[in-house]
Amino acid sequence: MDAGFEVVDVVGRPPSWATMVRRGLRRRCGRCGSREVFETRWRLRERCGGCGYRFKREPGFALGAWFLNFMVLESVHLAGAMAYIVWLSGHPGAGLVAPLLVGAVLAVTIPFLTYPHSQTLWAAIDLVMTPMELDEIVDAMDAMESVRGGP
Ligand SMILES: [Zn+2]
Repeated sequence: MDAGFEVVDVVGRPPSWATMVRRGLRRRCGRCGSREVFETRWRLRERCGGCGYRFKREPGFALGAWFLNFMVLESVHLAGAMAYIVWLSGHPGAGLVAPLLVGAVLAVTIPFLTYPHSQTLWAAIDLVMTPMELDEIVDAMDAMESVRGGP
């Protein structure tokens, strides 16, 4: 016999994928939009402070965040290399020292600036690709009740 209701009838529909990704890009929880997601600038909390969502759902979470960060860096390097090649066509004989120094500085600063965003964006993408199961939703609700001192 069909019970007549689904999980979304009880806990509500999750936000759209665009909303989750936008929240992730803004260093927020993809599920609820809370800003209470970092312990420090670099370290993601185990759970969201707003909804109890566990960010690192499985081993290897950091690899996805690292990969996103690496893709941003390599996209900037590729764009810079292409711009330099175009510029070089009008300036034959120009040296390589300055572009290599700029590339090295970017290789250090870009990951430094974007890693927190990469973590929350990856958590949002993970949530879009793998919606929460009922046990995860209950786990998050239990975590929030224990924080609030509920039953
Ligand atoms: Zn949340």
